[in-house]
Formats: sequence, structure tokens, C-alpha cells
Amino acid sequence: MASIFSKIISGEIPCYKVAETDDFFAFLDINPNAKGHTLCIPKKEVDKIFDMDDELYLRLMKFSKEVATAIEKVVPCKRVGMTVIGLEVPHAHVHLIPLNTMEDARFLQKTNVSKDEFQELAKAINSAL
Ligand code: 5GP
Repeated sequence: MASIFSKIISGEIPCYKVAETDDFFAFLDINPNAKGHTLCIPKKEVDKIFDMDDELYLRLMKFSKEVATAIEKVVPCKRVGMTVIGLEVPHAHVHLIPLNTMEDARFLQKTNVSKDEFQELAKAINSAL
């Protein structure tokens, strides 16, 4: 069965898309730690990130760096942090989180983002790529 993220890539489940290439996809996390919290994923469905082959893994890192650089340009933050967890969704993904305090990195305190804000954030990050 397709993962929830594969359904997002195919458009079966809606998302706020930030970037897309032939092999990778980036979209805003629906339950963000902070405004601009973005997930970068390979289109190929692999569960654990460290099970990805080296070539795809390294290209995911490069894609994530490009997205992080765009986030940093448009979202006020001290820096963009990168986290890998994967306990909820078994489709490899990198969390890119705009950080101002340690709380932003902890996945405990979530931020409310309106539909309009989600749309504006996705558009602004995409434009900064
Ligand atoms: P993890 O698997 O790394 O523990 O967490 C998965 C992340 O995916 C969570 O931060 C969660 O908010 C996000 N997420 C889960 N389902 C969806 C969804 O349908 N759409 C979006 N945009 N994010 C999701």
C-alpha cells in the first residue's frame, strides 16, 4: 500500500508544496514545530532513511540543503535545523525546522498555522529557491 507521503506526491492527498524535482518532493509539515517546518522526501518509497542507497541519500541531502537555504531566506529564524525521525510515517523524510529556541527542535510544542499562512509560506519558500 502506498505510504501517506506517496499519496501526497501523487496528489491523492493535498499538501502545501514547496519544491519538486524528478526524484524529490518538499512540502510543509501539517503539524509544524515552527512556521516553515518542511519535509523533504525521495519519491521512491523507502522506509528508513539510512536504508537508502548512497547515491539517492546524498542527493536527498543536497535537495534538502537547497530547500533549507530558501527557508532561511524567507522565514525569520536563527538557523534551520535538520532532523530525521520517521516513527510516524514509514517513508524516508528529512525535517527542516526554522529554529529560534531549543523548543522549536523538540517536537513537543506545536505551532498553529492558518491555511492562508501555509499557502504564503509555501509560495515564499518556493520563490526563494
Ligand atoms: P516522523 O515520521 O518523522 O515521526 O513524523 C512525520 C511527520 O509528518 C510529522 O511531523 C507529521 O506532522 C507529518 N505528517 C504526517 N502526516 C502528514 C500529512 O498528511 N501531511 C503533511 N503535510 N504532514 C504530515
